[in-house]
Amino acid sequence: MYQVKDGCPGCGNCLAVCPVDAITPNGLGVTITDKCIDCGVCVSACPIGLIYQTPKTQTTSVNNYVSEVPQEEDKEGGELDE
Ligand code: SF4
Ligand code: SF4
Repeated sequence: MYQVKDGCPGCGNCLAVCPVDAITPNGLGVTITDKCIDCGVCVSACPIGLIYQTPKTQTTSVNNYVSEVPQEEDKEGGELDE
């Protein structure tokens, strides 16, 4: 996965070289989308070196699904003697 650092002036070089049109204008700068095939061409196309490859071994926090354990509560509700 590739990303673009802040400060992109939007010169458009990377958009022009990306073979799969994975880079889209984003305000002043650009954003690399999921279409990116990690070819790396855009890295050398950027005149100011803003495009970089993110580590593949990202340690994202994994949310383990907590399965709902059915509680066996067969007891009748509390007594409401008033
Ligand atoms: S790495 Fe290749 S596919 Fe990905 S955004 Fe750059 S030029 Fe496009
Ligand atoms: S080549 Fe670099 S400066 Fe130009 S639009 Fe792409 S990321 Fe921005």
